[in-house]
Amino acid sequence: MKTRKYIKKTIRNNAGQLNDMLQFNDSTNFLKRKAFSKLLSERLFIKEEGAVWILDIDDFKNINDIYGHRFGDLVIKTIAGRINEKFESDKFVARLSGDEFVVALINKSHENNTKKEIEKIVEKINLPMNIEGKTVYISVSVGVSLFPANSVDAEELIMFSEMAMYEAKKLGKNQIAYFNSKMNDYMKLHIEIDEILKISEKENIFTMVYQPIVNAVTKKIVSFEALIRMKDRKYSPMEFISIAETNGAIQTLGRWITEEVIKQIAVWNRQVGEILPVAINFSCMQMLDKGYLTFFEETLRKYKVSPTQVIIEITESVFMDVRFNGVNFINEFKKLGVIVALDDFGTGYSSLIYLTNINFDKVKLDRLFIQKLIDDKSIKVLSGIIHMLHSIDVCVVAEGVEDEIQSRTLLSCGCDELQGYYFGKPLEPEHILSFAEPSSI
Ligand code: C2E
Ligand code: CA
Ligand code: CA
Repeated sequence: MKTRKYIKKTIRNNAGQLNDMLQFNDSTNFLKRKAFSKLLSERLFIKEEGAVWILDIDDFKNINDIYGHRFGDLVIKTIAGRINEKFESDKFVARLSGDEFVVALINKSHENNTKKEIEKIVEKINLPMNIEGKTVYISVSVGVSLFPANSVDAEELIMFSEMAMYEAKKLGKNQIAYFNSKMNDYMKLHIEIDEILKISEKENIFTMVYQPIVNAVTKKIVSFEALIRMKDRKYSPMEFISIAETNGAIQTLGRWITEEVIKQIAVWNRQVGEILPVAINFSCMQMLDKGYLTFFEETLRKYKVSPTQVIIEITESVFMDVRFNGVNFINEFKKLGVIVALDDFGTGYSSLIYLTNINFDKVKLDRLFIQKLIDDKSIKVLSGIIHMLHSIDVCVVAEGVEDEIQSRTLLSCGCDELQGYYFGKPLEPEHILSFAEPSSI
């Protein structure tokens, strides 16, 4: 039950669909969810076979935004009508929320036939519709679970279909995804991490490690990147940060990280005079934390740390969602005197527009890009990119440097700074000073 609630929350968060969608005016005459589940249990009890499928209209919010809610209701009605048409198999339907339906299809024939029938119906649902003289094109994302193959429990089947539907959305919408047990394993992991993220004493669970970044020519350390770890190393930051980003936990975690790092800079400052700048990874979802900039400034003041000792690493996803107003946010950091780096460059869209809109101090070339640096052509491409970045006064950092050959190639391409296991793995803060020799920092 908890899983289901969780998934629903995630889907709504992701699709930006708010709770007001739940207050639908039910003109579809479909079953209520409870009645659906009861009926399904009865059919499962008498060992019937078939499929449970959930369909969710893609980007329904846009239809409401563009044409208004009344028109949106007519779209729902049309879709409901299409679902209501006679199928080859026996069926019953419930409306789960504003734009989400669940269908139980009773079909004793082979699984493949059930799948074919679903595909045929979905094709029909997706046909353009004519409403009040306007032609509307919609698509749906569908998640399917089969009984008895996947489960013989009604609630579990609904939950599995929802997981599959979530997968269909993730794969780019407008498709049918079938439940498999991997999705369930993933969800279990999701829920466990979700619980971990709720624990408020972050210091009992997380710790920060620091990786040196060196000058490409002198190989002397020029800065550090702070990276989060779970103390017991059970899950990697890749796993828990992405979950923290979907459920909002990144806001509290992000503040904790910020304070930890600034506190650490203050400790090092006391030990060696002034430590080199330390980079903090800033997730784009943290921009929803409206008070963050004030918090950031107050924390610097509290620990008497200069903003020039902090590098903020952001990825281009900061600019993808206009809601965030990323350019403003980053410029606020710049105004404070913080060093700003564009992270993971070379893998995503790497749009050059961002480089013209914001005066980045650094651009970090992604590890995956460095790994592919094996032939003449990619080396030429990289040299060209670095040349372009230098012409706008951007310092170029390469990440994930693992051997001497890579280090030399990157230097010959004009890279300014290097980071990677070859120069040093991320270390606990107490090991940094002995590693870096206080005299050099
Ligand atoms: P990232 O920002 O691109 O960080 C670089 C990742 O590459 C780190 O992984 C680092 O340990 C790894 N790395 C560095 N040198 C090498 C190398 O030579 N070879 C290989 N194979 N890997 C290398 P890590 O610490 O597992 O972090 C993964 C990602 O998780 C980070 O990617 C970042 O996106 C996110 N992350 C980590 N810590 C934080 C944090 O404190 N806050 C936020 N928001 N995200 C974080
Ligand atoms: Ca980074
Ligand atoms: Ca990266």
